[in-house]
Amino acid sequence: MKKICLIYTGGTIGMWPNEAGILLPPENPDNFLKIAPDLHEIAEFDFVTLLNKDSTNFCPDDWIAIAQAIYDRRNEGYAGFVVAHGTDTMHFSSSAVSLALGKNLNVPVVFTGSQTDASVKHGDARTNLMRSFMVACSDLAEVALCFDHAVFRGARAQKRHESEFDAFESPAFPRLARLTKFVELFPEAKRRNPEIKDDIELIAEFAPNIVQISLIPGLETHFLNSLISNEFCHGVILQSFGAGNVPDQGPFSLLEFIAKASSFGKPVLVTSQFPANSTTNTEYGPGKSAVEAGAIPTGNMTSACAMVKFRWVLAQVMKTNLKNGERQKRIRELMNLSFVGELD
Ligand code: ASP
Repeated sequence: MKKICLIYTGGTIGMWPNEAGILLPPENPDNFLKIAPDLHEIAEFDFVTLLNKDSTNFCPDDWIAIAQAIYDRRNEGYAGFVVAHGTDTMHFSSSAVSLALGKNLNVPVVFTGSQTDASVKHGDARTNLMRSFMVACSDLAEVALCFDHAVFRGARAQKRHESEFDAFESPAFPRLARLTKFVELFPEAKRRNPEIKDDIELIAEFAPNIVQISLIPGLETHFLNSLISNEFCHGVILQSFGAGNVPDQGPFSLLEFIAKASSFGKPVLVTSQFPANSTTNTEYGPGKSAVEAGAIPTGNMTSACAMVKFRWVLAQVMKTNLKNGERQKRIRELMNLSFVGELD
């Protein structure tokens, strides 16, 4: 029988309603295992309580803790890892852990959670956990997110619904597997390779102090201009209206802001409010002029993964002593490279 490491971090999957009906993390995280008493019939496992909170309160230090916990146990004979996590920020964590563990990962790391707590008899807490164990025993060799009947690449998934059981989607990349009685991996899935002996190169650093602005029609630029002189601000994300389109005319044009911020050492990333749009290939003038002004497009990465990767890239580039121009160039280059299949 294979051996799995089950890392518990919190979320609805471990919660139970109190007398007032409010869902709270359990006082004793060991109670989590009661949702699936027959889990050991799928695989032997060790249970690690790493965190016990609503994922709304997660921050980059929590991503680091998860990546480090897996890294520290990489030579302990586990066939795979399952991370039980809240759904609200699971796709941020799965993106972060993918980048932190990198391309040499040779086992599955499967994030899962649930829409309903274990008191809901017809709910998904038990099913999702059991299915994730099956995936963690498969030949997959990457960070995945398993939810309902789907298995997605961790760096490509995003939450699509706050209550339906198929809570996640992967707008720009196919699923990794079909879940039937068995786990049938699709060709897109990275598989274990016994020949690969390269150790994981852990890069678990994420820069603080970035800010994301979701664009609205008529956004006054003076709100943004204060960021240029803000000594703490390390970078700005503009979540564009479509394929990287950013206002470029009249008093609401953001082009001057983009150019100034970039020249003051605050890179400006452009993501999309829509899931699968490519911000690299925009055909529209307002998108092209933003890039010409210095904005960095994020291809077809999800907006969550682009934000996480921005922090990850910044943390690495900030350690170098490159001058600003070179720095911006390096950030653009790294943002456009695919490290773990997070973009095409
Ligand atoms: N707020 C919860 C969390 O993210 C939602 C969930 O788990 O579904 O922890």
